Amino acid sequence: HEEHAIMDETAMRRALTRIAHEILEKNKGVENCMLVGIRTRGIYLAQRIADRIQEIEGIPVPVAEIDVTAYRDDRGGKREGARTSTGVMLPVQDKKLILFDDVLYTGRTVRAAMDALMDQGRPQSIQLAVLVDRGHRELPIRPDFVGKNVPTSKLEAIEVQISEVDGIDNVIILQQ
Ligand code: 5GP
Ligand code: MG
Repeated sequence: HEEHAIMDETAMRRALTRIAHEILEKNKGVENCMLVGIRTRGIYLAQRIADRIQEIEGIPVPVAEIDVTAYRDDRGGKREGARTSTGVMLPVQDKKLILFDDVLYTGRTVRAAMDALMDQGRPQSIQLAVLVDRGHRELPIRPDFVGKNVPTSKLEAIEVQISEVDGIDNVIILQQ
């Protein structure tokens, strides 16, 4: 199979810095905001954005994590109570939630995440940030903040490596 580079460490750093600024601009700061990372890599992306915001504004923003496997409509999970990865309920009531994931594809994971969050209260709003939007949406979901738009065929896959998990920051596209 073929591989093509999409983002290296520098490109990823610049994209995340831009997204941090866009979040601050759109929300006029981070008052009442909570960053919510989806499972593995979304959690680290959310944490990096929180670190950038702390550097830029000098204000800490809370970071939470969510595991939505049980909420997916197409993976046979049965719906239990909404859970974060750590099993703790999230204080979502009246918060501006900003969801983070590494790759946006059909939108089903984000729908599941919104279901899980809204089972815990009524957020003021939910926004979505993704490192890569690879297209092929099957639901009316669009990201508010995008690292890079990467049109793909369904036969291609995006490989996202981030240093906290993989020891390197790198995004490549794999052609089967
Ligand atoms: P969706 O639910 O939108 O179909 O897929 C998004 C979820 O599946 C995300 O949590 C993402 O991590 C994963 N995903 C979907 N397509 C890809 C891909 O091409 N590469 C990677 N790394 N993850 C993907
Ligand atoms: Mg994922």
